[in-house]
Amino acid sequence: MSKMFINGEWIESSNNAAMEIRNPANGEVVDSAPEGTIKEVNAAVDAATDAFKKWSRMSVEERANIVLKGIEAVHAQQDELALLLTREQGKPLNEAKTEIEHFLHGMKFYAHLAPSVRGSYVNLPDPSMYGMVLRQPIGVCAAIVPWNFPVTLLGTKIGPALVAGNTVVAKPSPTTPLTTLKIAELLTQAGLPNGALNVITGPGAELGEALITHPTVRRVAFTGSTKTGKRVAEIAGRGIKRVTLELGGSDPLIVCDDADLKRASVAASIGRFFNAGQMCLAVKRMYVFDSVYDEFMQLVMARVSKTTVGGGEDPKTRMGPMHTAVGRELVEAQIADAVSKGAQVLAGGKRPEGDGFDNGFYLQPTVLTDVPLDSRMRTEEVFGPALPVWRVKDLEEAIALANDSPYGLGATVFTRDLKRARDVAERLEVGNVWINSLEIGFDELPFGGVKESGLGREHGPEALDYYLEPKGVVIATG
Ligand code: NAD
Repeated sequence: MSKMFINGEWIESSNNAAMEIRNPANGEVVDSAPEGTIKEVNAAVDAATDAFKKWSRMSVEERANIVLKGIEAVHAQQDELALLLTREQGKPLNEAKTEIEHFLHGMKFYAHLAPSVRGSYVNLPDPSMYGMVLRQPIGVCAAIVPWNFPVTLLGTKIGPALVAGNTVVAKPSPTTPLTTLKIAELLTQAGLPNGALNVITGPGAELGEALITHPTVRRVAFTGSTKTGKRVAEIAGRGIKRVTLELGGSDPLIVCDDADLKRASVAASIGRFFNAGQMCLAVKRMYVFDSVYDEFMQLVMARVSKTTVGGGEDPKTRMGPMHTAVGRELVEAQIADAVSKGAQVLAGGKRPEGDGFDNGFYLQPTVLTDVPLDSRMRTEEVFGPALPVWRVKDLEEAIALANDSPYGLGATVFTRDLKRARDVAERLEVGNVWINSLEIGFDELPFGGVKESGLGREHGPEALDYYLEPKGVVIATG
């Protein structure tokens, strides 16, 4: 059984309870992790509070060097970590490897930004005085992470948090704690002071809320659903805590009449079916100009028909199982709702049958057309491998439909006309736009949502600001 990682030590739950972590591909038990309690939340925050005294006073260069050593340690175990991630999360092994690489790249990006953590000197109207702006770490940060990208999304939080001088209590999803625990151990063995990075495991709402409302926690970085995000904002607000929220999305992909249709079809199929469609940035609605619809859909369907579904450890697999039974049932209900209102299923729509599929949460890659606008697939986030497609007559209609959503995370547009691209990028109500590209999250660019998709930004040098408190200092010399 795995244990929690608190103050550099392996800790069991005070109630001795544990939860099984099962492989979504076949239901087999991978390991178990403690069902932590509020007692362990408090112990982890206490450890992080103590460690803050030491870590925040180290030079930023020293901190960056320790993070870089940690990156080397994780890199050395990349393959073992990727296999563990596939087993606990379900994603194909090549996707798990990509995720670990993305984690390493992101951590390195923040370690290399260490020299940019600096304050400033300010001239004041009174010449006998001057001002300074110190940029100081905030304190103990909560990092609450979902199951779909447990490693990358841990890195987007602990990278900037640690380099800036904060300490962290991470709370992974109850179903994907294993790789996170291993990474915390490797980073600590590489030189992080005990308590600078702690991992608590257990029931999400109970531990998450205890962590957020703990009086010593000053900063909350949350990634997850919009429903939980609203609750997090509410309880963190009561304690006036600094919060970033990376929430759900319903990203549209618009294919114009002058698009490179082949490239657009690659972006559509990878964008929808990577990680079995369980991505915040997945293509969740597709709007295609009428004049190119038939040709484009032929290309999409050819790619979908080649998407081999199977267990994540099988090298032939292009799409793994969904992560949970509940998640699969939700997508099936959304498909059934669309079909009951008149939608046509062009591909998939069912669970694959046969040997090897019975005990996993598999769903065929699914494409639907003629989906009525009041369908749940358009009004809700579709967090699984189902792609609804609509015909549009022009860009005006596409933009109106794309913006008609409570979400505003990302959007993609395929067009060869750069003037049109710029215009549409300005008019889409989202935090990120991709032109002629798959929606890829780059560490170099700020990332986040508008409307109900989030608050604040992760990635980019901008993310560091969310982990530093500016302090104005006036010095009188007269
Ligand atoms: P979730 O909201 O159910 O859980 C997210 C995390 O919050 C988990 O660690 C969970 O244990 C914890 N949690 C649950 N209840 C809590 C509470 N009351 N207080 C504090 N923490 C609580 O989300 P999920 O199902 O794990 O993840 C999928 C969702 O995450 C999707 O909506 C997806 O779009 C979104 N997501 C967003 C981004 C982004 O960057 N915008 C990235 C990945 C995933």
